[in-house]
Amino acid sequence: MKTVAIDGYGIEHVRLTELPDLEPGPGEVVVRIRAAALNRLDLWTLSGDLKIEHDFPHVLGADGAGEIASVGEGVKGLKGGVPVLINPGLSCGSCEFCRAGEQSLCPTFSVLGEHRPGTLAELVKVPASNVFPFPQHLSFGEAAALGLTAITAYRMLFPRARFKPGEWILITGIGGGLALALLMLSRPVAGRLFVTSSSQDKIDRALAMGADAGVNYREEDIGKSIKHLTAKRGVDVVADSAGGPALEHSLRALAKGGRVVIAGATAGGSAEINVRRLFWSQLQIIGSTMGSNEDVANMLRMVAGARLRPVVDRTYSLTDAAEALRYLESGKQFGKVVIEVP
Ligand SMILES: [Zn+2]
Repeated sequence: MKTVAIDGYGIEHVRLTELPDLEPGPGEVVVRIRAAALNRLDLWTLSGDLKIEHDFPHVLGADGAGEIASVGEGVKGLKGGVPVLINPGLSCGSCEFCRAGEQSLCPTFSVLGEHRPGTLAELVKVPASNVFPFPQHLSFGEAAALGLTAITAYRMLFPRARFKPGEWILITGIGGGLALALLMLSRPVAGRLFVTSSSQDKIDRALAMGADAGVNYREEDIGKSIKHLTAKRGVDVVADSAGGPALEHSLRALAKGGRVVIAGATAGGSAEINVRRLFWSQLQIIGSTMGSNEDVANMLRMVAGARLRPVVDRTYSLTDAAEALRYLESGKQFGKVVIEVP
């Protein structure tokens, strides 16, 4: 099978690599990938910064959608040809958290393409519990584009931040895959929806997708601007994937009793906050990572019911994957970068 793999760390080590075809083990399925989607995670994996010991060549890619190619012993309810998307979160299945249905709390939780061979390939092997039939209004590329970001966004909003219909929300850093998934899933229920970006163009595009207002954080103070836009009230929820010093801005944008939910730290791992504001306004800071199998199923039901579509920025072919990764690295994208697999 054709794959996109690294034989060392650095984008110059990304190569189209021929590897042996895969056979499913007991409880596993092999998916014939029709489309994959890129994530920042792929850039971190190939940089070597994650300090994981990879067996080279290592196949990249967390997100993918395709058709079941073969099923292993003991797999029930799935057969060849069924279109599915892959949940890239891998867990042990037997610890206390897995047994409670909280797979992303599993101590051995890992992600396809990060620790194990990924989806930038003609074939990928995963546990049968990691594949889900996807809504019929989506193409393979759109299904792949839901993947990691839509699963993460769903868990952030609903199980973790307990976002309620009519509440007001601020989504930071609009334009990336996760922020746009947050916009897609919160817009149908949000009372008011605000975004931030350093790019006026990205704010304008978010307004066209239904955001009520945007704040350019290069030019304006987020806390002050949101208070101004909400007649001093603030928002009920801030959904953030930047972390770092911006946390204090997020807290200042909150209404009394508000929650900030964080699923990333692209802007840094440490933050200083005003503890008096935290307790006096009864705020909550909530962490969230990926999602459980239940979160995936609930996200897909919402996407099907509201006929939602993820934003796909550009589509590349498998042979141009290195160019696609460079484009992702540039940060110019608005939405997901998809790789079509012939
Ligand atoms: Zn577990």
